[in-house]
Amino acid sequence: MHAIESTTKLSNGVDMPWLGLGVYKAQEGNEVKTAVRTALEVGYRAIDTAAIYENESGVGEALRESGVARNDVFLTTKLWNADQGYESTLRAFDESLRKLGTDYIDLYLVHWPVKGKYVDTYRAMERLYRDGRVRAIGVSNFHIHHLEELLANCEIKPMVNQVELHPMLSQLELRQFCSQRDIQMEAWSPLMKGGAIFLHPLIRELAEKYGKTPAQIILRWDIQSDIVTIPKSVTPERIRENSQIFDFMISHEDMKRIDALNENKRVGTNPEKYDIME
Ligand code: NDP
Repeated sequence: MHAIESTTKLSNGVDMPWLGLGVYKAQEGNEVKTAVRTALEVGYRAIDTAAIYENESGVGEALRESGVARNDVFLTTKLWNADQGYESTLRAFDESLRKLGTDYIDLYLVHWPVKGKYVDTYRAMERLYRDGRVRAIGVSNFHIHHLEELLANCEIKPMVNQVELHPMLSQLELRQFCSQRDIQMEAWSPLMKGGAIFLHPLIRELAEKYGKTPAQIILRWDIQSDIVTIPKSVTPERIRENSQIFDFMISHEDMKRIDALNENKRVGTNPEKYDIME
């Protein structure tokens, strides 16, 4: 965990960078292209998009124009809820590949656990994995009971679970469950969407102590907790700032103080209360 390109090894041996650029709400076209290009210039080697973000084309263009080799970048995309089901997943995957302008995906995720559908959806992902069209497969927004159902019905264990995770929602129980099964945790909205967390007295105190920004303290807490993190920004200075987390260490004692901030507070949708899944 010493450099921006540092990776964690997934259960199937594939290396996944600890830090990636999130592009939710980065607009298709110039905005997302500039963000991805900036990130690659700064040294990011992972990008997190999704079919529903409607910016896969821009992500793909920026990747191709960057001059960075395709196999040096870890590319994640996600299967949208409306496309869940076996055959529809295979079709949606082809569409994502076409838009991204690549012939494989590094990590393909089931975006949300759509009731009654996610097992079939995941079986299609297993097929894509066996066919060598994705290097890793996983899920997003899965709670323990979703994972238990999936694990009881799948042949290839999901390699990643991407969920909302930050100091106010530290997901301890889920992290322990995943760690015991060698499922890598990944944090979405790690910065709580850039809101009040930056003003929290402890985060400010630690930012001062370590000579870092509040965002850097939070992102460093992620990776020191063995959590892959994908902060989103379309602002070049922030993209750079968010990457400068590999040159310091938060002490064990200060990590515990950040851990103690948990309030089980969400800034995004709770997977249990998501209408589209009913
Ligand atoms: P983040 O917690 O990453 O926050 C992003 C916001 O914070 C943006 O408004 C950004 O502004 C601002 N910001 C970023 N860096 C800084 C900084 N250093 N200082 C101050 N403000 C900053 O929220 P997201 O919800 O975007 O989550 C990150 C990624 O996770 C997404 O982009 C997406 O890839 C993924 N995700 C996945 C979900 C899922 O269901 N699987 C759900 C939600 C997100 P600006 O861009 O203007 O610079």
